Amino acid sequence: MKPVILITGGSRGIGAATARLAAQRGYAVCLSDHRNEAAAAAVVADIEAAGGEALALPADVASESDMLHLFEEACRRLGRLTGLVNNAGVLEHHMRLDAMSLGRLQRVFATNVIGAFLCAREPVKRMSTRHDGAGGAIVNVSSMAAKLGSPNEYVDYAASKGAIDAMTISLAKEVAAEGIRVNAVRPGVIYTDIHASGGEPGRVDRVKGSVPMQRGGLPEEVARAILWLLSDEASYCTGTFIDVSGGR
Ligand code: NAP
Repeated sequence: MKPVILITGGSRGIGAATARLAAQRGYAVCLSDHRNEAAAAAVVADIEAAGGEALALPADVASESDMLHLFEEACRRLGRLTGLVNNAGVLEHHMRLDAMSLGRLQRVFATNVIGAFLCAREPVKRMSTRHDGAGGAIVNVSSMAAKLGSPNEYVDYAASKGAIDAMTISLAKEVAAEGIRVNAVRPGVIYTDIHASGGEPGRVDRVKGSVPMQRGGLPEEVARAILWLLSDEASYCTGTFIDVSGGR
């Protein structure tokens, strides 16, 4: 039996790169998308063409009923869950905090914080030895913004990722004796569509001069760190972080 992982936001960017690499490394992959079913289907088709096993399911991470259904369906179709990549995340257009509407704050925190909590809860219920599970691993996708902030751009997003860092540390300790490792990656500026969501598709090229390595990162470079944290190579790591940021 292949190990089974679920990747939220697997239709594009870092999640899609992680899904492809995970399948290459022998995982059966369930990837979820939000609205972009065509992109999710294309990732599944790539994985299957390469001989891997994958399944795409639409689900809004901020919806509890969607999350319950997503995990139930993934386990029913692929088997016992061994890992989660808690990746789905959003940001909105650049602005100062004093211009942010309540609606924007609710959307960003609903997806990035509440969504990540709902996504972490379901695998704990399945993988923890406390619930008769056989253990597993969770990798949360945070951001360097949690450490560096995002002034004048998205203070809300940076704060939501700060919550992910705190959740990673707390949950890791909570379930460490129950066979579950919980770690996180903090990507720096990575070439994905997320920057277009912030209103600046070319943001990575604008800021790359501030990166010590003088370049933006690729989704595949983040995926490799995620896969390492999920693997037995990281068997004594929990509550820890890998900054995938070119030294930023
Ligand atoms: P992306 O290219 O914009 O992809 C976002 C993914 O999340 C898509 O698959 C999208 O699904 C999904 N998604 C968005 N809202 C969702 C929701 N409510 N429910 C379920 N899925 C949802 O972004 P990315 O750059 O790969 O980002 C992935 C993660 O890395 C995020 O947590 C982000 O904060 C983090 N990160 C990215 C960077 C960077 O520079 N790119 C840096 C630091 C951290 P659809 O395709 O269906 O819309």
